[in-house]
Amino acid sequence: MTTLLIADHDNRVLSDATARALSALGAIDDAVHVLVAGHQAGPVAAQAAKLQGVGRVLLADDEAFAHGLAEPVAALVLSLAGGYRVIAAPATSGGKDVLPRVAALLDVMQVSDVVRVVSPDTFERPIYAGNAVAVVQSTDEKTLLTIRTSAFSAAGVGDAAAPVEAVGVPEGDWRARFAGETLSSSDRPDLASARIVVSGGRALGSAEKFQEVLGPLAQRLHAAIGASRAAVDAGYAANDLQVGQTGKVVAPDLYIALGISGAIQHLAGMKDSKVIVAINKDEDAPIFQVADYGIVGDLFEIVPELEKALG
Ligand code: FAD
Repeated sequence: MTTLLIADHDNRVLSDATARALSALGAIDDAVHVLVAGHQAGPVAAQAAKLQGVGRVLLADDEAFAHGLAEPVAALVLSLAGGYRVIAAPATSGGKDVLPRVAALLDVMQVSDVVRVVSPDTFERPIYAGNAVAVVQSTDEKTLLTIRTSAFSAAGVGDAAAPVEAVGVPEGDWRARFAGETLSSSDRPDLASARIVVSGGRALGSAEKFQEVLGPLAQRLHAAIGASRAAVDAGYAANDLQVGQTGKVVAPDLYIALGISGAIQHLAGMKDSKVIVAINKDEDAPIFQVADYGIVGDLFEIVPELEKALG
C-alpha cells in the first residue's frame, strides 16, 4: 500500500495538522510518503523526514508553490498520482482547497473529514453537523482523503530521518495568481491546535467586554480564544475565532465556554474536547448536556472569581 500525504506548512514550519494526518494514515501504511510543495521549503522537508511513520519525503521546491495555490499543487499531485493508491491531506484550508481539485481531475470520489480509519478503504466521517457518524467505503481505484486532524494525535518525532527526494515540477500556465494576504497576528496560541481554548458567546455584550473578560483568563491559562458565531456576527470577536460547523473544529484538552448556549452548530466544532467547562446563567442551556463541569451563574461574576482562584 503506497500512501501520499500532502504536507501543510508555511515554507518554514510543518504544521501540527500534518503530523496528525500522518498518524491517521498509520492504520493504512507504515511508511507514508510526504509531499512538501513549497518555495525554499527545505526546512519543512527536514521536519517531515523526522516524523515517525514517514518512509520518504518528496520535495517540490519552486516559486509556483510559494503560496500553496491549488492549481499548481494539484497539477504536481496529479503528476505523482500514478504511484499511489491513497492520496491524503489534512482537512485544513489548504488541504480542502487542493484535494477536491485532484479528485475531480482523477475522476474519483473524495472522502472528506475522516475521523477514523476502519480499513484501507473504509472510513468514518461526521455528517449532520457532527450529530451522526457515517461509515463510508471507497471502491475507487484511488482513495482520496481529507483528515479531520482534531480526531487524531500527532505522530511522534524519531531520531532517524527518512530520505528527502527532489521531485520535478510540472510546467503550466496557471490562471490563478497570488495577489496578497492579510495575516492576523495574535500573541495567543493557534486556535486549531491549542491545548486550552476559552470561548465567548453573545452574552459578552460588546467587543470591549469580550476582550476584558476573555483576555486575562486566556493569558493566565496560556489558552487560545474562540467565539460563537453570534459573538462573531455581533462584531465582538474576529471571524477566524469562530468555533463550530461553519468555523473551526477544535478538540483541546480543555474548552471553557462562557455565555454560549450550545447550539448544535457550535457543538459540532467543540464537543470532542477532552474536558468541557460551561458557565451559563440558564441552567437549561444545551451546553450543559455536553459539559463535564457546569457552573450556573453570571459569567461577569464567576470569571473574576475563577481568575482569583487560579492565583
Ligand atoms: P445565544 O444562543 O444567544 O446564547 C447566549 C447564552 O448566553 C445563553 O445561553 C444565555 O443563557 C447565556 N448568558 C447570557 N447572559 C449571561 C451571563 N451574564 N452569564 C452567563 N451566561 C449568560 N454557531 C456557532 O457558534 N458556530 C458555528 O460555526 C455556527 N454555524 C452555523 C451554521 C448554520 C447553517 C446556522 C443556521 C447557524 C450556525 N451557528 C453557528 C449559529 C448557532 O445556531 C447559534 O445561533 C449560535 O451558536 C449562538 O451563539 P451564542 O451561544 O453565543 O448565543
